[in-house]
Amino acid sequence: MTDRKTELAANLANVEQRITAACAAAGREREEVTLIVVTKTYPASDVRILSELGVRHVAENRDQDAAPKAAACADLPLKWHFVGQLQTNKVRSVVGYADFVQSIDRARLVTALSKEAGRAGREVGCLIQVALDAGESGRGERGGVAPGGVEELAGLVAGSPGLRLDGLMTVAPLTGEYAGREQAAFGRLMDLSTDLRRAHPAATMVSAGMSADLEQAVAAGATHVRVGTAVLGVRPRLG
Ligand SMILES: *Cc1c(COP(=O)(O)O)cnc(C)c1O
Repeated sequence: MTDRKTELAANLANVEQRITAACAAAGREREEVTLIVVTKTYPASDVRILSELGVRHVAENRDQDAAPKAAACADLPLKWHFVGQLQTNKVRSVVGYADFVQSIDRARLVTALSKEAGRAGREVGCLIQVALDAGESGRGERGGVAPGGVEELAGLVAGSPGLRLDGLMTVAPLTGEYAGREQAAFGRLMDLSTDLRRAHPAATMVSAGMSADLEQAVAAGATHVRVGTAVLGVRPRLG
């Protein structure tokens, strides 16, 4: 194995152990939680190694970086998740490789995604990004729609050709009532998921938890954790 492969294998094993322990502590089966490795700022060669090590879900947050990386890895059995704030002028490109867009936060984005998915003949799995720092209405500092806006946006996704409503996503907020209270934040996301599934039973994905707080997310009931730093290392630049 190359040095990098050895390093990534060790980091992955460590993250796997953390997820397994968190599942055990919460009385959940390991299979209930899917690991998504966030490969932003890291090269396609790392994505290739991760694939060799058994990773099947990767995430990116900037189309400029993600599009060439996904193209370079098109031969790999990977699902690509887009998790960043998404401008409508990038939608056509993102639809070309993304199996999931986790950062749905406004109607205009839904309309654009539906149009481009139809054009490309693809189906895109959609997660509504919930901003828990936005109060009941408005938008969050790091993207996302306030809890009060989830239902309407979900209905719009569900009624849009080419899109599939898969669930909810959040990033633990740094400000507001949930700052420093990750488990409470993820618990709130779970409550919103319960509400959502009354109208949309198939929208079962709950994407929460990153390197620093995956245990709290698993404890709250997350189905997907998005882990970057703990697998790939501290990013060389903000991203
Ligand atoms: C970067 C990022 C992650 C991963 O964060 P780490 O702290 O590196 O694990 C997860 N979710 C989103 C939306 C991100 O942008």
